[in-house]
Amino acid sequence: MIQFSGKSVYKGIVLGTVRVLRNQDDPVRRRKVGDAEAEILRVAEAGEKAMEQLKALYDKALGEVGEASAAIFEIHQMMLEDEDYLDSIHGMIRTELVNAEYAVAVTGDNFSEMFAAMDDDYMRARAADVKDVSNRLVRILEGRGDDGLASMEPSILVADDLTPSETVQMDKEKILAFVTVHGSTNSHTAILARMMNIPALVGVPFELSDIRDGMPAVVDGFSGTVSFEPDGETCAWAEKRMEEEREKLRLLEELKGKETVTIDGRRVKLYANIGSVGDVGYVLESDAEGIGLFRSEFLYLGREDFPTEEEQFQAYRQVVQTMGGKKVIIRTLDIGADKQADYFGLGKEENPAMGYRAIRICLKQPEIFKAQLRALFRATMFGNLSVMYPMITSVEEVREIFRVAEKVRAELDAAKVPYRCPEQGIMIETPAAVMVSDELAELVDFFSIGTNDLTQYTLAIDRQNERLDDFYDPHHPAILRMIRMVTENAHKHGIWAGICGELGADLALTEEFVRMGIDELSVSPSMVLKIREKIRGINYLITI
Ligand code: PEP
Ligand code: MG
Repeated sequence: MIQFSGKSVYKGIVLGTVRVLRNQDDPVRRRKVGDAEAEILRVAEAGEKAMEQLKALYDKALGEVGEASAAIFEIHQMMLEDEDYLDSIHGMIRTELVNAEYAVAVTGDNFSEMFAAMDDDYMRARAADVKDVSNRLVRILEGRGDDGLASMEPSILVADDLTPSETVQMDKEKILAFVTVHGSTNSHTAILARMMNIPALVGVPFELSDIRDGMPAVVDGFSGTVSFEPDGETCAWAEKRMEEEREKLRLLEELKGKETVTIDGRRVKLYANIGSVGDVGYVLESDAEGIGLFRSEFLYLGREDFPTEEEQFQAYRQVVQTMGGKKVIIRTLDIGADKQADYFGLGKEENPAMGYRAIRICLKQPEIFKAQLRALFRATMFGNLSVMYPMITSVEEVREIFRVAEKVRAELDAAKVPYRCPEQGIMIETPAAVMVSDELAELVDFFSIGTNDLTQYTLAIDRQNERLDDFYDPHHPAILRMIRMVTENAHKHGIWAGICGELGADLALTEEFVRMGIDELSVSPSMVLKIREKIRGINYLITI
C-alpha cells in the first residue's frame, strides 16, 4: 500500500478501482528495443484486442443508433487489417528498433496526414479514423483499458489535472472519486466535484506513470488522503466508514420535504447550483427549493462551435420545465479564465481572470449575447425563470445590458414570439459592485453574491493558482463585511440578496449569514440537506 496526501475538495470516502485519465496530447515515448519481433508480436496481440473491442462497439451501436452509424466501427476493423498500415508499423520497428507504441503512433500520424491531403472527400474524412484506430492500439499497448471513459465501470478517476470542459463531459454516474496531481480547491473542476457529491482530492504528489488502471484505491476526503493498493485493514476500515456516511445521509433524508426555516420562523430560500441540464436530477434528489445558479457557460464548453439559439432554448426549457414552477436562475455566459472554448478565439492573456471574460465578451460581441438572451426569454414561457448577469462592475454596464435585452425583446415582439419578462438580477462578485451596490440595487431585481470571485478579487489571489490555496481565505473580515453591506443595500431598496458562491455552503458561517439577513443560499446539491439541518437549528431571536 502506498499513501499520498493532497487537498480535499469534497469530504467523502470511497473504495474502488482506479481509472487513469492521461492527457490525449501526451506524446508517446520513443524507446529503443532489443527484440523487434517481440514488439511486432505485441502489435498483433493489441490488434486482436482492438478487433474484439470494435466488434462489441459495432453490435452496441447497431442496437442503439442503427446500421448506418454503426458502420464506422466496421471501417475501423478494416483499417486494423490494412496491409500498408501494418507494413509501415512493422517496417519502422525493424529498421529503427523502436517500441510498438511509438511505431503505431507515428504511423497513425503519417497515414492521417496522407488522408487529409487527398482530394476525395470520403478519403479525407478517414484521416480522423486512422488516428482513432491508432490511438486505440496505443491505449491497449500501454495497458490503458479499452475505449476511453464511455465504457468504463464506476471508477476513481486519476489524472494530472482536469479542465472544466473535460469534467463537464464526463458521465457522472461512472465516477466514484477524483484524484489529481494538480489543481486548485477553488477551481470550477473542484466545484463540479462538489456538485457530483463525490470525494475529490487535488494537489496529490504522485507520479501518474506509477498508477495503473484497475489498481484498487481508497480515497478519503476527510483526511485528504488516497491509498493505492490498500491493505486488508485499510479496506475494512474504508468499508466501515462508507457505511457510517451512508447512515448519516439516510438521517438527512428525513429533512426532505421540510421547510428551511429557523426555530423562530425566519425562512431562507435554499437553492442549488448546477452546470448542465443533466444536473437537474441532483437538484430534485437533494430537495432544493429551486436553482439559484445555472452556470450556462458549461453549455458552451467541450464543443467545436457556439451552441445555437435553438439548442440553448431546448436546454433552458428542459430545466425550467423539469423544475415544475420552482425558481430557476440562469446566469448568462461567464466564459473565460479557466473556462475556455477554442472557438471563442479568446487567445492567451496575461491575467485571464481579470481579462476579456463573461459580461465583457457579451457586451463587446452582442450577437453572442443576443442569441443567449433570445433563448432565455423564449424559455420563460415554460416555467419560473430568472436571468442573472455575471462579473458586473458598474451601473453603466447594467444599463447597457438592459439596452441589449430591450432590443432582444423588441425583436421577439416583431417576430410575434411569445415570452414573459423575467426577473433580472446580477452577481455581486467584484469589490466595485459591492461599493456601488446601493446604486445597483435601484436597477435590478436581486443580488446573488459570488464569493468565489469576490474572494479572488478582494484578496488579490488567483483562485486557479494552487500555490495560493493557503492564502485564499473567504472568511477574511473584508469579505464578511462586504456580504453584510451588500445585503443591507439590497434590503434598503426592497430587493433580495443571496449567496451562490461556495461560501454559501460553509456550515461554519450559516448562522452568521442568517443573522446578516441573507435571503437565499444557493449551494451544491450535495450540501442542501446539511444546510437545511443547520438552519432549522438556529434560533434567530437569541443573540449570541
Ligand atoms: C462565484 O464567483 O462565486 C460564482 C458563483 O461564480 P463562478 O464560481 O462560476 O465564477
Ligand atoms: Mg464568479
